[in-house]
Amino acid sequence: MPFVLLGPPGCGKGTYARLLEERMGLLPVSMGQLLRNASKGKTPFARKLKKALARGELQSLLVVLRVLLPHLEKVRYNRVLLDGFPRLTDQALAFEGILHKKRLGIERVILIDTPSREIVRRLGARRVCSLCGQTFGIDVPPKRKGVCDSCGGRLVRRSDDAPKVVRARLKVYARDTKPLIAFYRKRGLLTRVNGFGPPERVYARIEKAIQRAQRKKN
Ligand SMILES: [Zn+2]
Repeated sequence: MPFVLLGPPGCGKGTYARLLEERMGLLPVSMGQLLRNASKGKTPFARKLKKALARGELQSLLVVLRVLLPHLEKVRYNRVLLDGFPRLTDQALAFEGILHKKRLGIERVILIDTPSREIVRRLGARRVCSLCGQTFGIDVPPKRKGVCDSCGGRLVRRSDDAPKVVRARLKVYARDTKPLIAFYRKRGLLTRVNGFGPPERVYARIEKAIQRAQRKKN
């Protein structure tokens, strides 16, 4: 049954999802990535989606499900690790209904709880190569300051990593996610993981939470 990974932008969710895939055999499903892939086709649906994504719009529940469900069906909802879905309570409710019809449910919702100050610090230190796009930061510093390890390109800060913009993004995240967190807490599905500390230590906490959920089931 599916796991859901929640956490603010910049908490390292992508890194943890990749480690959970490598070490625990979970199947990360990034909603953002699925939508970007689905927008690459030549169909009217893909073209419309591409425009909406470029405008930064939140996608409707119907669009999200149309992209997501075939993907989940393929793996029979098994060992899936959802990232970026559900985002809002109405999505969570609809998803619950869909799972219920299949006699399934969410295995566990893992919330990576990282203080805003730490996020601003981490994203503020993030640099991207202007040539090849590789990312560097506190956990992966470049060998030479301001220079890409792979191609020697100049490292720059993404405009949405500026502290002021990060704080605004975190505000939106908090507003959207609070009701979602309350929703899953009420259902007894939420596990809060301390997201502060070195990535390996945070990862170990997440892994433990997932193992505990799996043991409970067996
Ligand atoms: Zn580079």
